[in-house]
Amino acid sequence: MTRVFRAAVEKMDPYTPGEQPRTGERLIKLNTNENPYPPSPLVARAVRRALADSAWNRYPPPRADEFVTEASKVYGLQREMIMAGNGSDELLAILFRAALEPGRTLAYAAPTYSLYDTLATIQGAEVKPVPYGGDFVLPAEALTRGRAALTIVCNPNSPSGTGTPPAVLGQMAASLRPRLLAIDEAYVDFADSNALELVKQHTNVIVLRTLSKSFSLAGARLGLAFAHPKIVATLIKVKDSYNLSWLALVAGTAALKDVGWMRRNVLRVQRTRAQTSLALRELGFEVPESSANFVLARMAGRDLGPMARELRRRGILVRHFATRRLRDALRISIGRPSEMRELRAVLGDLVRYRE
Ligand code: PMP
Repeated sequence: MTRVFRAAVEKMDPYTPGEQPRTGERLIKLNTNENPYPPSPLVARAVRRALADSAWNRYPPPRADEFVTEASKVYGLQREMIMAGNGSDELLAILFRAALEPGRTLAYAAPTYSLYDTLATIQGAEVKPVPYGGDFVLPAEALTRGRAALTIVCNPNSPSGTGTPPAVLGQMAASLRPRLLAIDEAYVDFADSNALELVKQHTNVIVLRTLSKSFSLAGARLGLAFAHPKIVATLIKVKDSYNLSWLALVAGTAALKDVGWMRRNVLRVQRTRAQTSLALRELGFEVPESSANFVLARMAGRDLGPMARELRRRGILVRHFATRRLRDALRISIGRPSEMRELRAVLGDLVRYRE
């Protein structure tokens, strides 16, 4: 039989995104790690002004000039070390297209963001997941030993929320060189440390960031990659010319002009995260210390799929992954305090009911 598409694509499972409610559907949404607070008011103001002077008929700047210039100021790196993407998901796709093909390997510690596996499989590359220890300590040495063409570390990791010290990542970069080490820092603004400095010290490190989480702009699709100019120049060869819409760029540039707004929201989320972790532990969940805007709540050995479905029935969305390592856990995004109180009340019911 003639195969219509490449075998790797026909055989693979699709990536499953978290549920997005329909317009008008009122749910407490704690399943895709969005920010419960709105973006800086500078964003709406800049977008309104841009719409009054509409640029719909023109292509956007291919190198996202103003956005990248603003990022250069915020992150203290030259523009040649920065690339903008349509969400960090697009930057991951660009990186994987540039680095992976059949015969080349991706290494990562599992469980982690499952899109890595999806994107590598699309490339026909070999995938080497190395299991995290029970306490989610990064198996740094085992990851490095494989000498994969591309190694990716999600830091803080999803779904565990746990972090790895930048010094460990620096050691990994040194021993992997010239092979690439990507560090996905989607959630790093909610942590106490980050690895951005490594892109100045190591020519094989790529750090990925997003404006979807801490900057409250998931709907705009804005990501940033930081790396040595040679890496950035290579990745730009792979990207679409006009990968970001002009309106998203306006929003992103405005958001980066108000880092203080982002920081204040991060502090609120961190406070709620501490209260939520405590409340979940009181209910009998194990909750690893989170450095992200979500927590992993686990009840060892119990399939929490039914609990996630019951929460959904009662209007609360959380994330459950039906895999061997994660079926006894729920990944819960940090929402507003009132939303977390409601979650706690419903979970209290469900936990009692199950005993
Ligand atoms: N990396 C990780 C670890 C994520 O959880 C996400 C969000 N699903 C992304 C990257 C992608 O974020 P975005 O495309 O919205 O920038």
